Amino acid sequence: MRKHAQQLFVNCVAVSVILLGMPARSAIPFASGRAAHLAQVSQNPQTRTALDWFKAHLSWINDEQARLTEIPAPPFAEGQRAEAVKVLLAAVGLEVHLDKAGNVIGELRGANEREIILIAAHLDTVFPAGTDVKVRREKDRMYAPGISDNGTGLVSLVAIARALHEARIKPQRTVLFVADVGEEGEGNLRGMRALVDTYRDRLKAVVVMDGSGTEHVTTKALASRRMEAIITGPGGHSWSDFGIPNPINALVRASVRFLNTRVPASPRTTFNLGQVEGGTSVNSIPHEARLKVDVRSESEDELVRLENALRECMAAGVRDEMESARDRSKGKLEWKVETLGSRPGGELSSDSPLLASLRAADEYTSNSSRIERASTDANIPLSLGIDAIAIGAGGNGGGAHSLLEWYEPAGRELGLQRALLTVLGVSGIASEKGK
Ligand SMILES: [Zn+2]
Repeated sequence: MRKHAQQLFVNCVAVSVILLGMPARSAIPFASGRAAHLAQVSQNPQTRTALDWFKAHLSWINDEQARLTEIPAPPFAEGQRAEAVKVLLAAVGLEVHLDKAGNVIGELRGANEREIILIAAHLDTVFPAGTDVKVRREKDRMYAPGISDNGTGLVSLVAIARALHEARIKPQRTVLFVADVGEEGEGNLRGMRALVDTYRDRLKAVVVMDGSGTEHVTTKALASRRMEAIITGPGGHSWSDFGIPNPINALVRASVRFLNTRVPASPRTTFNLGQVEGGTSVNSIPHEARLKVDVRSESEDELVRLENALRECMAAGVRDEMESARDRSKGKLEWKVETLGSRPGGELSSDSPLLASLRAADEYTSNSSRIERASTDANIPLSLGIDAIAIGAGGNGGGAHSLLEWYEPAGRELGLQRALLTVLGVSGIASEKGK
């Protein structure tokens, strides 16, 4: 990462040299002179103060990340962590409120309040209540469920807001710092859906901070469906009722059929049997069995095909079980497939101002990143034609969604600088007069 610092300096000089020949302008209208505008943001002395703030406060950032991660935020119970983020955002001078969905919204008012740039990080984790979320530090690593996804993103919100505050930067467009609810699993992006609903007409760009790293930028929203198959039956005793139809048997038969469904490598399409529930005891024939399935694809058609395949397999599994049942007198099996969530797809245009801003930030920080397709909070704005990206907040992480999740903060300032420059690139910095 030392190499980065050196290159950063070289780039600063290069940008400054280019700018010496340019008229000093501030709050340049966004559509025109985009390159000049982006350069103006990165060579602004206040921007440099903000960029430098990160490196000088890394241990504070790491400690706040650990503290936020240790506040449990299971699905649909993000309230306690939301309160903690609210306090942090209020401490850096933002006007903070919680909306009806439970999102924390901190406003940094711009000279132009009619236009909004949103930077968001999700509050929720995939881990159920009761999971041990204590952070363990070992050498340069932090271990805890949720430490990277999304402890890293959440603390980046706070750090970027604080860096802008310390550098006394007033944006041209209003910037909203949002810690949102319901990104993971069955949350079904409800926090982002509510935000886009509220701000839709004024929303010019959305930057989603999710997880660690700086090597990618998600500009393509991966469409997905989450479904639950439920099979019910009469239930009974394992010995005396042997031979009646068993919902778990049917679910297993159906699942094996579904596993044999072929999916294309291109358009990339995947499925996951993620959760199985059912039964009351080892010596009872269950009266219910449930299976949760996640399907994803680059193609909407493939999603529909898989959704249909799951239904057909459930029907066939139930039929197989009914046919092999010796005793049908106590009742038959019923089945249904419910949709738990549906995430729309979408794509950022390659000539969008937001992507130009990210690319300029990459160049400035000597970072290189590749375009990715993923399922994130950015799905919602992208599906509605609103510019959005999702990026990592720097450092390195692994084991997301597992109890062995880890995060290494080394070099995280690069990710924070990249995100800050991207946001300022689309928000602009207000002129002195506008203050
Ligand atoms: Zn995440």
